[in-house]
Order: sequence, then C-alpha cells, then structure tokens
Amino acid sequence: SCPIVVLVGRPNVGKSTLFNRITKSRNALVDPTPGVTRDRHYERVTWEDRVFMLVDTGGIDDNPEDLMVNHIREQAMAAIEEADIIFFLMDGKHGVTPADHQVVEILRRTEKPIFYVVNKVDSPEQEIERLSPFWELGVEKLWAVSAEHNYGFNSLMDGLSEQI
Ligand code: GDP
Ligand code: MG
Repeated sequence: SCPIVVLVGRPNVGKSTLFNRITKSRNALVDPTPGVTRDRHYERVTWEDRVFMLVDTGGIDDNPEDLMVNHIREQAMAAIEEADIIFFLMDGKHGVTPADHQVVEILRRTEKPIFYVVNKVDSPEQEIERLSPFWELGVEKLWAVSAEHNYGFNSLMDGLSEQI
C-alpha cells in the first residue's frame, strides 16, 4: 500500500485540472460549470521515485452556498479520515471564501500533512496579489500554483515528495 493524497476544495477551484496534471492523464473531467457532480477518481501515481494514490473529489448537484459549505465540510472530514496527505485547494482568481475559512478550521484538527494550495496563480506577476487575501486564514505556508499553466507546480511536487 502507498500513501493516499486527497484533493479537497469547493467546486471549480481546479482540483480536476491539478489531478490531470499530476497523473498526466485526462481522467478527471474538467468542467467549467461549478457544482457538476462527478465521481471520485483514484489513480496510482509514480512521481520520480515516489508512489502514491491520488484522489480527486467531485462536486455536488446543487450549488446554493449553504449546501456547498456543508458539502465541503463533509469532504474535508472524509479526507482527514481517508488521506495520509491532504491538498486543500483554493481559488486565487476568486479570492478567499467563508467556506475556505471553515475548512481550515476543520483541517487544523488533524496532524496529517496539509498543503494549502492557492490555484489559478497563473504567472509570477500575479503571485503577491492573488495570494495576499489568503494570509488571513492564518496558515503557515501557502503554495501558489497554476494547475492549468504549470506555475509553481514543480515546487509543489517537491514539497509533496518530501512528505512521502
Ligand atoms: P474542480 O471543480 O475543482 O475539479 O475544478 P476544474 O478542474 O474542473 O476547473 C474549474 C475551472 O477552473 C475550469 O474552467 C478550469 O479551466 C479552470 N482552472 C483550473 N485551473 C486553473 C488555473 O490554474 N488557472 C486558471 N486561470 N484557471 C484554471
Ligand atoms: Mg472536478
């Protein structure tokens, strides 16, 4: 058995895009519509000399904010149970949300390694501006990445490798 890495975050933050980049496949459906239900996807990944199981979590049927917050909270709690390592993805283009704050509160309860990832930082020029609202979450480290354009991806994977 190998470590399980779970991608968590609200719909549309780019979980499936990151899943596809890491697995170098197109197995997770990237959907521009927030809240489209997708199954969980599991794929065994070999990254350099490390092996892990990557899990992409789907969206929900409805997207009223309260339903979504509950859903994300449940997702986060399930990830804490299932995962050895958690990637909590947020949307740097959209900015920090109340759901992000709630999930961070839940994730603080675990000792498992958590990567707080701000996605959609598409170039170095965007990094300071897109990252800055997320510092209010009070986490020690934020990973600025662009799942779509590859920015920050190699450092994120190096960080992951160190935990495996
Ligand atoms: P998920 O619902 O969290 O799985 O998100 P998806 O991977 O389906 O992506 C949702 C939308 O965000 C799609 O339109 C993607 O093209 C877009 N997206 C994903 N990653 C990035 C990124 O790094 N930068 C930008 N600008 N858009 C992205
Ligand atoms: Mg998805």
